[in-house]
Amino acid sequence: MNHKYIKNNCESCQRILSGAGKIKEYKCWFLEHVGEPIPVNGWLVLRLKRHGEGLVSMNKEESEELGQILNSLPKALKEVTNATQIYLCSFNESVPHLHFHFIPRRAEEKRRTIDFFILQNEVKSGKVSAIAASETASLIRNIKIRLN
Ligand SMILES: [Zn+2]
Repeated sequence: MNHKYIKNNCESCQRILSGAGKIKEYKCWFLEHVGEPIPVNGWLVLRLKRHGEGLVSMNKEESEELGQILNSLPKALKEVTNATQIYLCSFNESVPHLHFHFIPRRAEEKRRTIDFFILQNEVKSGKVSAIAASETASLIRNIKIRLN
């Protein structure tokens, strides 16, 4: 990775550099499992490898590769998690570095749509228990196999 495109005080850039939760590295994108505390097993985050802010920062090459990823990642995640629905969200507000959340919503889950981000805040504050990182290990292994 070219470090010239990394912003030092950016949480996304630092996560990419550390390789934390890495599932797959594409030419322009870095796919990882969401970091601890984990709200949902299989909640994935796709980050632009260089520091670019918001949807408007994507260039042609990055948006074309994103299109290819969108053709395979949601299907793979649905297969591995048995989710009813795969959500895709991108706000880039608290962390402006362009990133997308892929969230599996399972049949037994009562929450819908934006409530997953309320859950994430509840897990961060300790109001709701987080998923143990050990529970995500086999899912991460399976999605790696499915995507490679
Ligand atoms: Zn960044």
